[in-house]
Amino acid sequence: MRYFLLSFLLFFCTGKISAQDFNYARKAVNILASDSLKGRGYVDNGDKLAADFIRSEFEKFGLQAFNGSFYQEFETSVNTFPDRQSIVINGKELEAGKDYLLDPGSPSLKGSFDVMTVTADEILDNAKFVNKLRVSSGQLIAVLPFDKSNFSKEQNDQLNGVINFLKYHSQNPSKGTIILTNDKLTWAGSVRQHPKPTIIIHSDSLDGSLKSLKLDIKSSFVEKYTTQNVIGYVEGKNTDSTIVFIAHYDHLGMLGPQATFNGANDNASGTAMLLSLAKHYSENKPKYNTVFIAFGAEELGLIGSKYFTENPLFPLSEIKFLMNFDLAGTGDEGIQVVNGSVYKDRFDSLVEINEEMNLLPNVKIRGAACNSDHCMFDQQDVPGFYIYTLGGIQAYHDVYDRPETLPLTEFENYFKLIVEFIDQL
Ligand SMILES: [Zn+2]
Repeated sequence: MRYFLLSFLLFFCTGKISAQDFNYARKAVNILASDSLKGRGYVDNGDKLAADFIRSEFEKFGLQAFNGSFYQEFETSVNTFPDRQSIVINGKELEAGKDYLLDPGSPSLKGSFDVMTVTADEILDNAKFVNKLRVSSGQLIAVLPFDKSNFSKEQNDQLNGVINFLKYHSQNPSKGTIILTNDKLTWAGSVRQHPKPTIIIHSDSLDGSLKSLKLDIKSSFVEKYTTQNVIGYVEGKNTDSTIVFIAHYDHLGMLGPQATFNGANDNASGTAMLLSLAKHYSENKPKYNTVFIAFGAEELGLIGSKYFTENPLFPLSEIKFLMNFDLAGTGDEGIQVVNGSVYKDRFDSLVEINEEMNLLPNVKIRGAACNSDHCMFDQQDVPGFYIYTLGGIQAYHDVYDRPETLPLTEFENYFKLIVEFIDQL
């Protein structure tokens, strides 16, 4: 009976991921992407609430800390939007996040303003544009929607140059800029505050023409904001080399109390992968020392990972392989492996494991790309992959990237693939 019980237990323990583990990942995504974590940005301490959750999970799993703390603190500047925003056009108040966004570097502006509109063709006619610009003083200048594909590369470059001038340059004589667009609204973060505000309005949200508007937009620039990376490790059987798992936990925070950017796919999902692996390796002693890093301030420009690689808590040369999880929440069309062609042997073994175990629909190769935290390690010649899932819901850097619509389609198989890949290193 005892032997039977033992083999019964072994069977379940070596099953790599059980339903219970998957439920854990789902729970972690729901917590990290909940409204109460404020979009894991810099309004209402969203970053600190998220870091505290990750720290408490690390502690619960019995991970070890470097130098007695799971936190590595660092400073950044950041432009934030803690207050209620208001934009009224033709008597209708627009909805933050859905109808409009503010450029993340926008300063505050309050008042009623006339609007001068310009078309792409007018921008390309230099004399005409300069004249309109001069008259726009004291008004807002609005660039009407245009289809990029109607213009040559040189014309698009010129249009971009002028739009960047309007958005970021203090010599723009208008009070601020409006960009009307037919494209999906996609937000970002900013470590700067620009001299004039820019409002990006989706053209579908306009009833009638845009001749004037009433606005009260408020931002708050924080010169020195202390945020943190959360770092823990599990000692391996072999302590000569180190495996590193990373995922950024920060997101875009809030655009006033009206709009929270929950960041379920970006990157509560990758953080849930990191936590699931931390849980797994704390229960199953790994071959090598295994470090888990949840990075802060990725969305502000890879600031947390830059700080870590400049102030590493162990020699980066000890890293045998690194894996970055950012956007882990779908997988209907498989995964994309950044650095796959750089570390081709490793990529081939990932593909082989995937085929043998019949896990994901596709494992696609990609070259190097400086598009997430692994980039800072690339620059130090640390070998590693950045993996993101493909297919499924396309919400990204918007108010629709929410936990209840994130499917985690292939999460279980993705997790199994990573564990097997690492076990074979
Ligand atoms: Zn991300």
